[in-house]
Amino acid sequence: MRQANLHTILRSLHLGGAASRSRIVADTGLTRSAVGVLVAELVDRGYVTEVRSDSGGKRGRPSPSVEPRSKNVVLAVEVLVDSVAVAAVGLGGPVLRSVRRDRSRDQTEIGQTVRDIASLVASVVASLDSGSKIWSMGVAVPGLVRRSDAMVILAPNLRWENIDLVELLRDEMSLEIPVFVGNEADLAALAESRRGAAAGIDDVVYLSGEVGVGGGFISSAQIVDGVSGFAGEIGHLPVNIEGVPCNCGAVGCFETEVGEEALLRRAGRATDGGRVAVAELLSAAASGDESVLEAFAEHGRWLGFGIAGLVNALNPSAIVFGGFLGPALPFVLENLQKQLAMRVLSVVQDDVSLFASNLGPDAPLLGASELAWNHALEAMVLES
Ligand SMILES: [Zn+2]
Repeated sequence: MRQANLHTILRSLHLGGAASRSRIVADTGLTRSAVGVLVAELVDRGYVTEVRSDSGGKRGRPSPSVEPRSKNVVLAVEVLVDSVAVAAVGLGGPVLRSVRRDRSRDQTEIGQTVRDIASLVASVVASLDSGSKIWSMGVAVPGLVRRSDAMVILAPNLRWENIDLVELLRDEMSLEIPVFVGNEADLAALAESRRGAAAGIDDVVYLSGEVGVGGGFISSAQIVDGVSGFAGEIGHLPVNIEGVPCNCGAVGCFETEVGEEALLRRAGRATDGGRVAVAELLSAAASGDESVLEAFAEHGRWLGFGIAGLVNALNPSAIVFGGFLGPALPFVLENLQKQLAMRVLSVVQDDVSLFASNLGPDAPLLGASELAWNHALEAMVLES
């Protein structure tokens, strides 16, 4: 019970930031005296400090602010095809250090990647304040991560198959800390629900459009990962029985209708133009180009068609649009909402709001830190 309550308070401070004792009482539902005892314990452990602020001119005792101490740290790692990033994130969410090393696309070999991560980790750790305690590490990878053992089963763009990344990293690094691995889109979803466009919302569908369409589901504040860990492949939701072939081998997947290539096709552009060509379409739409706006409108119709199914199946509070779908949202919104109005069950219709991602490309790295914090908060409580 005591540990569960300590965890509740630590989590509330980690996600909500500094708060007065009265605020913690209100946020956690614990009694005032229980909060007093538990906060004192967290201060003793060095997890939080109490800072007396001035009373703002009001009479009576000033209410001290309970602040998470960012000497408690986790490490976050993101592996991309063309770069590797490492960040140190303090309790409460501040990014204390962040470094990224670009690399060419032919340097994704696992041994090289592990050495790159270890050397970035060493430099980040060396730059932390003395007395910092590193609790754990989270790693975001663009691939399928098996739930039972955190094996990276397949990461096609990195050309990895059946990689035990946890073991390899622990062998290469001089740190003895627990390491957790997750799918980058799942972790982006987690970051958006904790610190991004849907901060504080516990039931979120995240959808990120690039060449493919990735995504993740957050339900009751946790990643929905499925029996093997591969849930969230929103891009491969079948939406068009007479559609075009998908990279996965099926036909008519959601990403064949709402990915980059579909948008470029609708706008009459070459479909291999990638990110640059999509950015051109976004600026053409912003300047009112009629034919481009029509392409976005049709895109919105398909987006709404697929998302209506997700809303009916999952009853989320928020849909967050990442990748190019974030900036595209104003241009697809009208038709998207028409589809939702037509197809979403009336009982869940009012629950859902739409947001453009506001973490952008940082989302997977921040999500990796939150994966690490899931474990770190429990470990901190167990030590107290
Ligand atoms: Zn597919």
